[in-house]
Amino acid sequence: MRIELLSFSCIPLDEGEDAFLRHSHFCFLVDGISRACSHQLVRHRVASYSQQSQRYVSMKDFPYVKPKTVEGKVVEIDGLKMDFDGLMRFIGKFYEALVEEGVPKEDARFVLPNACSTRIVFTMNGEELVHFLRLRTCNRAQWEIRDMAIGILKILIKRFPKVFSKVGPNCYYLGYCTEGKKSCGKQDEVRAFFSNLSSS
Ligand SMILES: Cc1cc2nc3c(=O)[nH]c(=O)nc-3n(C[C@H](O)[C@H](O)[C@H](O)COP(=O)(O)OP(=O)(O)OC[C@H]3O[C@@H](n4cnc5c(N)ncnc54)[C@H](O)[C@@H]3O)c2cc1C
Repeated sequence: MRIELLSFSCIPLDEGEDAFLRHSHFCFLVDGISRACSHQLVRHRVASYSQQSQRYVSMKDFPYVKPKTVEGKVVEIDGLKMDFDGLMRFIGKFYEALVEEGVPKEDARFVLPNACSTRIVFTMNGEELVHFLRLRTCNRAQWEIRDMAIGILKILIKRFPKVFSKVGPNCYYLGYCTEGKKSCGKQDEVRAFFSNLSSS
């Protein structure tokens, strides 16, 4: 996963942190995340997105994201044994064969998996970015979008420490967990992690 802060436009911090967040915009490029991850990202509505097309870009030999949990797992179906990488190669070949048969890329892509990696550019204002980071740096968030959110936060802390070193999941940002029964119960550990992030 590659994350880059492509551009930002900010007002001076002298106007206050609330005003800074309200009137500032941040544009990020994220490359090499799965479609499963980008699908979660684009649920955040107060933002603009541009994503690599699967209609026009060929997905022959498509790159993909492999969760650690599938490493070493071999599945047998109807006498055919296959691991995760084998299945990805098989899907890639199936996709390629469809395109060679004259199926348009926009239809052949229907066989592609959530694991397929993608590139996305998005712009959020500071308030939305903080909202996004509070939700997605939380232990309750899915691991890939959490990794992405932490990567984004690291960049922001380096560039704007005064504002973003306070940001993290609610147990760190607000000082208490808002997840109720779904809480991970590891608030001390999580707070220590984000506190280290802002001081390193
Ligand atoms: C741990 C986790 C698990 C999730 N699981 C699921 C799931 O199982 N199924 C599922 O469908 N989704 C799931 N989601 C996605 C979730 O439901 C939200 O769609 C996503 O987090 C976007 O957050 P949001 O709606 O608060 O804010 P954003 O879309 O980022 O908007 C920010 C805030 O702006 C305001 N806002 C935005 N648009 C409007 C509007 N049209 N009208 C009024 N106010 C608006 C709201 O106050 C909102 O909180 C999950 C999210 C998380 C973090």
